[in-house]
Amino acid sequence: MINPPPAFLSAAKDLLGPKGWTEDPEKLLAASTPWRGTFSGSTPFIARPASTEEAAALVKLCAAHRVAITPQGGNTGLVDGGTPHGEVCVSMTRMQAVREVDPFNNSMTMEAGATLVMAQETAENANRLFPLALGSQGTATLGGLISTNAGGVAVLRYGMMRDLILGLEVVLPSGEIWDGLSGLRKNNTGYDLKHLFAGAEGTLGLITAATLKLFPKVQRAAAWVVVATAEDVVKLLALVRDHAGDSVTSFEIIPANAVAMVVADVPGTRDPLPANAAWRVLIEISQPKAAQAEALLTDALEAGAEAGLVQDAAIAVSETQAKSFWHIRETIPLSKRAYGTALNQDISVPVSRIPAFIEACNANVRKIVPPADFVIFGHVGDGNLHYNLSQPDAADNAAFLASQPAVNRIVHDSVHALNGSISAEHGIGQLKREEILRYKSATEIGLMRTIRKAIDPAGLMNPGKLPGPR
Ligand SMILES: Cc1cc2nc3c(=O)[nH]c(=O)nc-3n(C[C@H](O)[C@H](O)[C@H](O)COP(=O)(O)OP(=O)(O)OC[C@H]3O[C@@H](n4cnc5c(N)ncnc54)[C@H](O)[C@@H]3O)c2cc1C
Repeated sequence: MINPPPAFLSAAKDLLGPKGWTEDPEKLLAASTPWRGTFSGSTPFIARPASTEEAAALVKLCAAHRVAITPQGGNTGLVDGGTPHGEVCVSMTRMQAVREVDPFNNSMTMEAGATLVMAQETAENANRLFPLALGSQGTATLGGLISTNAGGVAVLRYGMMRDLILGLEVVLPSGEIWDGLSGLRKNNTGYDLKHLFAGAEGTLGLITAATLKLFPKVQRAAAWVVVATAEDVVKLLALVRDHAGDSVTSFEIIPANAVAMVVADVPGTRDPLPANAAWRVLIEISQPKAAQAEALLTDALEAGAEAGLVQDAAIAVSETQAKSFWHIRETIPLSKRAYGTALNQDISVPVSRIPAFIEACNANVRKIVPPADFVIFGHVGDGNLHYNLSQPDAADNAAFLASQPAVNRIVHDSVHALNGSISAEHGIGQLKREEILRYKSATEIGLMRTIRKAIDPAGLMNPGKLPGPR
């Protein structure tokens, strides 16, 4: 770990005040330990600015002393993008204010350290919907969600985080503040700069606030559906959308073995429809009125059964039952962790190619990791699969983990051959920093490096994440 110069530390402490920084070893360790634990890091100092002005003064100070920064929100990222490796960690969790809610413009402006649940509740209090939803929503922050362009379970209808931002406020690596907060839907005045920062993983600046899109509130109907094959899952998606159009909000694929993992791990959970079939699908349809949503869902499932695509289905009869379906889906990552060791992938391919991808990839992966369980789940409506291999911890972990590079090659080459992406929603961070160089064209990587160098010539923003400048 490179210790920042003492002059920097004393100036930063003066600037931030006693609540604005810590050197407590436990907190430094927590900030350096990512959720998945892949690349544990280190940091000498956590700065916790309380306002945009304070954040800007801090970044200016870092620039003056050539001190590198790792921005951090909730530290729930899955590619080690928010893990410092000797850099000063700038935690945004003190900046959580709601600056404005404008229900008639369907927009709200909140600070970057607010969690996703806070954003959902702020919208709800204004009789509106902020639709992003994902398993880590109680901890993940708006700044982190924007910086990773997070997806989640409602992308099918509302898009990813990038699609949900109207404006941003960013402290640039120089310490200058870019006030791009705007509630406008139409603004054709040159480069749309906010999109540079969405998905930039903290490499271009520190996001301090965002203006977000709001939507009319909806009522939801959810169904748990048993399906025989991945091909039937894809056909069912098309059929349900034919019947319910854009009101299909979520279409999640869950394998039978993941349901078994959750049931074994989480007391009180049970398989809603035990069956021998390989797959379950969790479908959610939303409409202004609950009866409309239920009618559309019933109609679509009846058509699915007639077409031989639905083996069995349960439409939730209460909010509690719908929550119990979702609880199974959302608990898979934790139950998979309890089950044993996993090799994880977050990929996307065109929806139509999902069955071919699973079949070919499983056969090739099986050749090098014979005993592993395939735990393939995720946002099938977006073509996004969390393609994972798991095995109980009692087995030979070291050999299993050592197969990760070979598994990566098979999975990523298959994805690339189908015009897919090796990172659908989690980002690149440190985890896929080298891997991405194989799959993006030299032109694209070159453009990314040029942009990064232009905005952060000293290379102080989150070094070591995403492909860096040469
Ligand atoms: C159980 C679980 C389920 C998940 N499900 C999903 C899912 O369905 N879909 C999905 O997309 N992701 C999912 N994730 C991943 C994760 O929640 C997202 O990556 C989230 O967007 C990260 O937010 P964060 O505040 O925790 O950011 P962090 O992890 O702290 O940081 C993530 C990245 O953003 C940067 N960053 C953070 N704050 C700022 C800021 N203010 N300005 C500039 N850069 C910043 C960091 O440097 C880092 O590169 C899941 C994670 C978990 C643990």
